[in-house]
Amino acid sequence: DLILFWHRRDLRISDNIGLSTARQRSPHVVGIFCLDPDILEKDDVAPARVTYLIGCLQELQQNYQQAGSQLLILKGKPSQAIPILAESLKAQAVFWNLDVEPYAQTRDEQVSNALQEKGIATEKFWDQLLHAPGKILTLSKEPYKVYTPFWRNWSQELKKSPVQALEDVQGLNQQQISLAKEAGIIDLPTAKDLGYLWENPLMLNPGETAAKERLQEFCKTSINNYQEQRDLPAIDGTSRLSAALKFGAIGIRTVWQATLELYENSRSDEVRESIQTWQQELAWREFYQHCMYFFPELADGPYRKEFREFPWDNDEDLFQAWCEGKTGYPIVDAAMRQLNETGWMHNRCRMIVASFLTKDLIINWQWGEKYFMQKLYDGDLSANNGGWQWSASSGMDPKPLRIFNPASQSQKYDPDGEYIRQWIPELKSLDTEYLVTGKIPTSELRQCGYPEPIVDHKKRQAEFKQRYKEVKG
Ligand code: FAD
Repeated sequence: DLILFWHRRDLRISDNIGLSTARQRSPHVVGIFCLDPDILEKDDVAPARVTYLIGCLQELQQNYQQAGSQLLILKGKPSQAIPILAESLKAQAVFWNLDVEPYAQTRDEQVSNALQEKGIATEKFWDQLLHAPGKILTLSKEPYKVYTPFWRNWSQELKKSPVQALEDVQGLNQQQISLAKEAGIIDLPTAKDLGYLWENPLMLNPGETAAKERLQEFCKTSINNYQEQRDLPAIDGTSRLSAALKFGAIGIRTVWQATLELYENSRSDEVRESIQTWQQELAWREFYQHCMYFFPELADGPYRKEFREFPWDNDEDLFQAWCEGKTGYPIVDAAMRQLNETGWMHNRCRMIVASFLTKDLIINWQWGEKYFMQKLYDGDLSANNGGWQWSASSGMDPKPLRIFNPASQSQKYDPDGEYIRQWIPELKSLDTEYLVTGKIPTSELRQCGYPEPIVDHKKRQAEFKQRYKEVKG
């Protein structure tokens, strides 16, 4: 009666639909996680993300042990490693929660087929979204391509409560443990063992406990001012739960339930508005995952055809300056340095640097998309691709060109230059006016050792518009 539960991006034992169903079916449930070289050896892996992942797995192993069972670690192609293990343990079935990403879907099909060949059953569940793909459709039963009507429909019927935690479950006996070893289980490696050294602190500690604590803290504090503060990168005004949501260190129902309770208990319209604005961010996460599910071609390039042949400049030196935070545009450089040093970047700044890369440097947004994946500890195909296509104007968004002016963005969202000073210490003592307008006298630049602007915003945006007009024909 052994059921193996395969964890992927649901690294927790509470509020986990697939795991909790497995436990209802059998008292004998053992967790597995497979370190997949097709993911871990790609060229878009961020050391910070692997560090977060391994930290989550460490806690998950402890949680399984406390519940009376084990989390087994495998390494290799899941379609080979999992059936071998399941067969040697005489598992009755393998359960897992589904994912929207094209790679995950192909992989899951291969694993299902390989298990079926061995006579082992599989069961799959939607867990990482409040509404599974296909649940939220337009009146004509088509998937949404526009966010606002999606949000309206999506939010109408939401009353979800978390599902129970895994407790009192039976694990493997001594004989089964040695069989599992023969079938390839390994000790959990560190991120460094896997070739990804990340020594800086993470914005959020890995694991289920830290994610729950962060949610509680956020619900007591910043969510109440979210509407007002979410766009100010100098302030800790957002939840910083993105990596926990990406890896499922926290369940989406737990998060939703917390916001519902706050909303219902609040008497202030302003606070309610803030809570709803945050809920809308959770809906953006779901929107992009639905889009990826129904339009997997998004993962491979621009959705809009005028961008398929766009004459990008793709200048390597300019790209390098952008990556290193040396463009001479303080707000852009501050943001890129935050990314490089912490593996996270504030959402407002993600939009600013994405607009700058595509509209000012005229570099293909896919270069930026990949660089983000190489750095972000919350890097997630659907959200990242969605954010980049939105910023590049190549996605489904009905609004045509969106061009951010770095100076107006700084003036509006970092008016005291606090964020810029935090991440570009060499500019710390300059006048705020210089920092936020980006108009720093050459003599000051030399003294600080800070570069001149690498391009002229006005000229470049005109150039971009011209090229856009031509491709649109
Ligand atoms: P909060 O403001 O507290 O939001 C709560 C949660 O809602 C987030 O944790 C996230 O899960 C979700 N969310 C918020 N905004 C968005 C959004 N625009 N799209 C999708 N989900 C959202 N988010 C990622 O999780 N991974 C990425 O790889 C990623 N890449 C991005 C790239 C670009 C170019 C842009 C513009 C945005 C990207 N985002 C990405 C979305 C957003 O910037 C981050 O989710 C957010 O900054 C994370 O911080 P937070 O957890 O404090 O967010």
